[in-house]
Amino acid sequence: MEKQGNIKISSENMMPIIKKWLYSEKDIFLREIVANASDAITKLQKLVELGEAKNKEPYKITVTTDEKAKTLTVEDNGIGMTEEEVEAYITQIAFSGAADFVSKYEKAGGEGIIGHFGLGFYSAYMVSENIEIFTKSYKKDAKSVHWASDGNSTYTIGDCDKATRGTKIVMHVAADEKEFLKESAIRQLLNKYCAFMPYDIYLNPKGKDDEKPVNTTHPLYLKQPKDCTEEEYKNFYRETFADYNEPLFWIHLNMEYPFNLKGILYFPKVRKQVELERGQVKLYCNQVYIADNIKEVIPEFLMLLNGVIDCPEIPLNVSRSFLQNDRQVQKIAKHITKKVADKLIELYKKDKEKYESCWKDLATFVKFGCIKDDDFYQKVKDILIFKNLSREYVPIESCLGEEISEEDAKAGKEPKAVYYVSDENKQAQYIKMFKDAGLDALVCDTYIDPHFISYIEYKNPKRVRFMRIDADVAGALKEESGENKEIEELFKAVLEEKKVTVKTEKLKDATVPAVINVSEFMRRMFEMNSFYQMGESAADITLIVNTANPAVLALSAADEEARKTAIEHIYYLALMNYRQLTPEESGAFMADSAKLLEKYLQK
Ligand code: ADP
Repeated sequence: MEKQGNIKISSENMMPIIKKWLYSEKDIFLREIVANASDAITKLQKLVELGEAKNKEPYKITVTTDEKAKTLTVEDNGIGMTEEEVEAYITQIAFSGAADFVSKYEKAGGEGIIGHFGLGFYSAYMVSENIEIFTKSYKKDAKSVHWASDGNSTYTIGDCDKATRGTKIVMHVAADEKEFLKESAIRQLLNKYCAFMPYDIYLNPKGKDDEKPVNTTHPLYLKQPKDCTEEEYKNFYRETFADYNEPLFWIHLNMEYPFNLKGILYFPKVRKQVELERGQVKLYCNQVYIADNIKEVIPEFLMLLNGVIDCPEIPLNVSRSFLQNDRQVQKIAKHITKKVADKLIELYKKDKEKYESCWKDLATFVKFGCIKDDDFYQKVKDILIFKNLSREYVPIESCLGEEISEEDAKAGKEPKAVYYVSDENKQAQYIKMFKDAGLDALVCDTYIDPHFISYIEYKNPKRVRFMRIDADVAGALKEESGENKEIEELFKAVLEEKKVTVKTEKLKDATVPAVINVSEFMRRMFEMNSFYQMGESAADITLIVNTANPAVLALSAADEEARKTAIEHIYYLALMNYRQLTPEESGAFMADSAKLLEKYLQK
């Protein structure tokens, strides 16, 4: 006999709210329903192990779409429910659970709950106008039960003729949600949410013997690392991330104590910088997919990696701000960071060649990690490497100086200067001079390097100040004080109109008549200003005239016309080695060059 009942919780108002919030993610309903089916099987399995229930057939979940009948059905052969249980669990728990979810959600401001986990059975009303349950409990002599409701205020419950143990949820898909009747759409959702669920899931099975489930019930990350082969890791990567480039290497996380954490993090090959954004770390809870790139759980810089993390201990049906401050979650994030650092250190120690060959792909990730997370920097600081002018990798730590004492600092002593190149082509002239003088510099030419070297300075204020190779030419390359007032005045007179300060020095390399010098401080200020678009004023430049150069020394004796041309020419040569000439400068440079050639050939 069929009975009717009223749902105690006022549920009429719930659905519009849920729909509004979860509009773009309403497909999570399938995960919730399949996860319930999976839980029901786990419960039965436990009872079987305890000898309290019997089971002869393989555990499985079947999903069927029927476009004609407009139904989507999920059936399991799990524990089933008695009539009392349906009343208690569905009419009470499922509906009050949803009401609970809505109130938590309201508190969290709508965006709050990660992966919208915990909405449960009720979520199926997001896409259904009516839901029927056919269920038969494992309990002896339990009658089969039929329950139906449109999700508002009433439901009916009564007997039915379901012959087998388990539960069948029939969702009558709403007219405007027809996409959920398509096999291809459902397949996609099962791949996304249920790929690693622990029991076989079949989609529209035809009843043949060789049918394959849509999921993997034992994903590789659950295995012990020692039992996994390289091939398996690579296959798992390819299947999970549809990336046909091989990963550089990976970290298998596998711990049970003090918290349960399993997963594999892959370091992908980075082809272009744009791709850096594209990491994907998928979070699972007991093999059920929750969401991608959850920054409350996984340190932000690790999002550049690809990976799966399964951690049943993260409280997922709480607000994000709660998660952020949760001690357990912080410990988990710290542990993941530590493991990543350990792996990098191990690789550096055991296989430096491989580490160096991967560095191009790793560097941005590691540097970003250091800037974001001081603990990470402290762990990896000895394995942060840069190329030097001989194209060999050197650890940055080995380039820093001894800490200067307070006294020395007071007396004006500065921390060690470490020179760097930001563009090997543009700074070629400076590089040559440095090399000839037996000096070295680090190549810091990726877009994160300016931030990274500032960070290293900030962490080691008494040990280093970074100087771009064109910032301290006189300091690095002068032989002895080579000041020559007369020559200085000659240059000043000719270059009066140009925005340049003139200085004379005797440099080690006599072949170079002059070089441009821009103070590191001024240049950084300028770069920062232009980054924030605060005016276009160029950084102040200094022309260092080399009094070791024969042409420079010959200037005083030259006639005025030749001297003017030569000084301008020297200025443009230096400028060219510093930056691109403007069209006007180029024109002037060409004219001067022609005049000089003419004079030279006429001699
Ligand atoms: P939750 O799973 O978070 O408890 P749900 O609203 O999804 O909340 O489900 C409510 C309850 O209904 C579950 O706790 C379970 O006892 C029961 N239930 C739901 N689906 C099934 C099923 N397929 N088989 C057996 N019991 C089920």
